[in-house]
Amino acid sequence: MTSRELREKFLSFFEKNGHKIVPSSSLLPSDPTVLFTTAGMQQFKPYYLGEKSLFGKNAASCQKCLRISDIDEVGDERHLTFFEMLGNFSFGGYQKEEAIKLAKEFLDSVGIKIDYVTVFSGDKEVLRDEESAKIWQKLGFSEEKGTLRFCGREDNFWGPTGEEGPCGPTTEIYSQDIEVWNIVFNQYYCHKDKSLTELPLFGVDTGMGLERLAKVSQNVPTVFETDLFGLIMKEIKGDDLKTKRIIADHAKSAVFLASEGILPSNLERGYILRRLIRRGIRYGKLLNLSHDFLIPLAKKVIEIYKDIYPEVLSKEDEIIGIIRGEEEKFEKTLEQGLKEFKDYVLRKEPKGGHAGVARDQMILDGKEAFYLYQTFGFPKEIMQELCKEENIKFDERGFEEELKKHQELSRTASAGMFKGGLVDSGEQAVKYHTANHLLLAALRQVLGSHVLQRGSNITEERLRFDFSHPDKMTEEEIKKVEDIVNQKIKEGLPVVCEEMAFNKAKEVGAMGVFESKYGEKVKVYTVGDFSKEICGGPHVNNTSELGHFKIVKEESSSSGIRRIRAILE
Ligand code: ATP
Ligand code: MG
Repeated sequence: MTSRELREKFLSFFEKNGHKIVPSSSLLPSDPTVLFTTAGMQQFKPYYLGEKSLFGKNAASCQKCLRISDIDEVGDERHLTFFEMLGNFSFGGYQKEEAIKLAKEFLDSVGIKIDYVTVFSGDKEVLRDEESAKIWQKLGFSEEKGTLRFCGREDNFWGPTGEEGPCGPTTEIYSQDIEVWNIVFNQYYCHKDKSLTELPLFGVDTGMGLERLAKVSQNVPTVFETDLFGLIMKEIKGDDLKTKRIIADHAKSAVFLASEGILPSNLERGYILRRLIRRGIRYGKLLNLSHDFLIPLAKKVIEIYKDIYPEVLSKEDEIIGIIRGEEEKFEKTLEQGLKEFKDYVLRKEPKGGHAGVARDQMILDGKEAFYLYQTFGFPKEIMQELCKEENIKFDERGFEEELKKHQELSRTASAGMFKGGLVDSGEQAVKYHTANHLLLAALRQVLGSHVLQRGSNITEERLRFDFSHPDKMTEEEIKKVEDIVNQKIKEGLPVVCEEMAFNKAKEVGAMGVFESKYGEKVKVYTVGDFSKEICGGPHVNNTSELGHFKIVKEESSSSGIRRIRAILE
């Protein structure tokens, strides 16, 4: 069956069986302790904790996932960084028996043979899962035949995503020697200190990789021969299969990350995108691919997914622009950087020594690594890989120390330049604080929802605001933003503060990247129906207090980040 048929069959099977079909949530979760969505259950996390579900007791989805932690596994038969996870979920609805039977029935219906299943064997804290074992036995599986196996915590216990959350024992389904489907019984809450308490309601959370299901259904050696990769793989010329797979994987992840408005940078999500693109390019060099080979690959990715995830098509120009921009940046310095690295290795190699032994004792020191990082834009992980290839050590600590030293230096420099800081609560500064919220909302209205706040610095005299956006703003855009902010000031909108739980704040659509945890109380400031942000305050009571808003400068701050200076007159 094609991946499209499998995706559709999965969702319609569960719809028929009383599940509400829920669209994939974004790759960027609202849980700030997690960089990316790594599993289908993430968007339903609160429902396992007793919050009322918006979708009833049973739901099913096909969720975009990104697991950067699997990057070194990519290229084997079953691991990808980006993949789609099919899942059915129950929050206080059905339990083990129905969950297992549904899984078996679905796989039967698409002609997939289960080789064996695994069940939790129990440990000091949690009992052996006899109930699941019995259910599988009734369906014809047994230890004697080797089709029912017991495994410990490492294999058959799942969660939590992030620092804390629901978790529990699992039962897993294997076909053609790979794990295809994981069925989790969310019976416990795992706290930050790793202790477990029982959850008030029984939860079922399952995950099955669509690519793995397609591999098994299409009976091909790896996920890269399925129809979810065929077109991309065909486009990559060269002999080394594993290298081609890594390139195909990274091209796909890069497209999906870029489609969510992420821009390459040296921080967090942006850094992951940068790393994927640059790692893809470096592997492309090993196959002697032409310099802009990622572009046709990205186009193939868009072709494969455009009907399922329309955002890859509607954002096509941005995605291609982002990848091309990063490619050009890296290309400029890559060759030179690689040469520099090779020269360094040669310089360091002791003359006349036994090469193998000498190499083992060689090290890329922190200063040199930082030089490569800063001058040629080599992500740390690429240097680690290069060192591994050359069989020399990488001084990770030394590198991190250099990095920190450098960051501290640039921080003191900017602190010296602008007196005052973020929390200057003079009367004028409070006005700027509110103007800050209006500005963000106006920028998103004019430029698009990829605009996120990346930094802010307020004094009594002015507002400085950093935000994600790939291009210089045009005169016209600047004018539009000013006009909107001034219009909102003229409208005299009330500024209202409400306290609510963090997850509630996210639910009502409040902006703001905050370190708050599930359940923790946060303040949400609402300006009319124009802006809603999680923020500590303080703010003015009404926008009419602000005066006239003016943007005095728009400039680049760093790659993909623009900076605005604005004043209130
Ligand atoms: P594995 O042990 O094979 O890495 P896992 O235990 O990490 O799998 P789960 O966390 O249980 O997998 O995820 C649920 C399902 O999602 C898996 O059964 C598999 O089908 C799919 N899956 C997990 N990780 C990946 C990946 N990196 N690439 C593709 N599919 C994946
Ligand atoms: Mg894994």
